[in-house]
Amino acid sequence: MKNTLRAPLVFFLAAFLLAACAAPSQKRGGQNFSAAKGESPVVSAPETPEEKLPDPPSQDPSSKNAPADKTVRVLLAEKAKTAEIKHSGRVYVYTPDLSKKYKVSAPGTLAVKALGNGKIQLGTLQAAQPIILEPAKDTLLTWNKNVYSGKIFIIPAGNAFHLVEHAPLETYLYGVLPYEMSYTWPLEALKAQAVAARTYTLKSLENVKNKNFDLYSDVRSQMYKGGGKQFDSVRKAVDETRGQVLTHEGKLFYTYYHANCGGGTDDVRSWNPGAASIKPLSGASCKYDAHSKSHSWQMNVSHAKVLAYAKTVGLAGTLKSIKIARKTDTGRATNLTIRTSKGSKTVACGKFRLATGIRSCKINKVSVRKNDVHFEGKGYGHGVGMCQDGANGMAKGGKDYRKILKNYYPGAKIAEIK
Ligand SMILES: [Zn+2]
Repeated sequence: MKNTLRAPLVFFLAAFLLAACAAPSQKRGGQNFSAAKGESPVVSAPETPEEKLPDPPSQDPSSKNAPADKTVRVLLAEKAKTAEIKHSGRVYVYTPDLSKKYKVSAPGTLAVKALGNGKIQLGTLQAAQPIILEPAKDTLLTWNKNVYSGKIFIIPAGNAFHLVEHAPLETYLYGVLPYEMSYTWPLEALKAQAVAARTYTLKSLENVKNKNFDLYSDVRSQMYKGGGKQFDSVRKAVDETRGQVLTHEGKLFYTYYHANCGGGTDDVRSWNPGAASIKPLSGASCKYDAHSKSHSWQMNVSHAKVLAYAKTVGLAGTLKSIKIARKTDTGRATNLTIRTSKGSKTVACGKFRLATGIRSCKINKVSVRKNDVHFEGKGYGHGVGMCQDGANGMAKGGKDYRKILKNYYPGAKIAEIK
């Protein structure tokens, strides 16, 4: 730890010493930057015009770029107290108002900690406003073993801080694909995934609710572990579909996808009753996912797990039975009735699935046994939109990504964002 801390400490000490030398002011690109006299091997104010000067992130970055190069803001960590961010090369460190602005040239590790009262510390720099780490071209940032090439914003939040990456859309997709689908799968399946993930992302950007970020880096949005790691197949899939999205009646829609549909997908309302039913999300047949072990499954869930969920819907007592109350034509349960010694409740199967960990709501059999609850079913996930195992099966069978998308999002068009 000590060694990794030394570099930033030296750098900041040097920065403050240099700043204390009453440096003359230089105008660059409409901004005033204080330029240090002399050059330190560790830190200096950006000098050369060809070096990209960091933008002050005062305006929403997602609104100022062309859609194909849109910046997405991804929440990497929420309410962290400490973080160590490695940089493989030069990195710029600055605050949004540019009152603090440094360059660290040598690779190293930057340690961040929350000081409380809305303050954060990085090296010797303390701030009550965000600190931005902008990697130079070819520099990668590593946090929590994930590799990022976008800017990382460290945003004070009470007695903690958030880490938010601002990454170009296509770079973001490099970091989504390998965690939503195996990078070893055929290129055409990966391309279908790239178009679906790109569409899902841009649709999500229409409904941003959080001030500091657009997307989570987990299943609440899409899995994302940084766009800095190189997977040739993933790069090819993203690059060869650059800017391509799915539309219905000229508009983006939520291109849901899931691991395995168990032989057929369902209407979006089977899983989300409040969603608008549109043709591309109305269900499709799938003859291509039987090779996967997710196609048919059996599993046992403890009484405790079911009862813990029952408690959240106001049902106490000991478990007596679970019955399918309603299901779709394809056999996916939309509602289950849980009966205990104290009464019964009919609940949405989707919520029950997430709470208990059953693989899908395509349940063929459920029986409450003495020590557990036994389920038998088909598929993995919510069963709406693209079936990933099916996409894999179609690609292996020689179908291209357009055919795959056409099968799982019937009636949708592939459009190019400009
Ligand atoms: Zn399927």
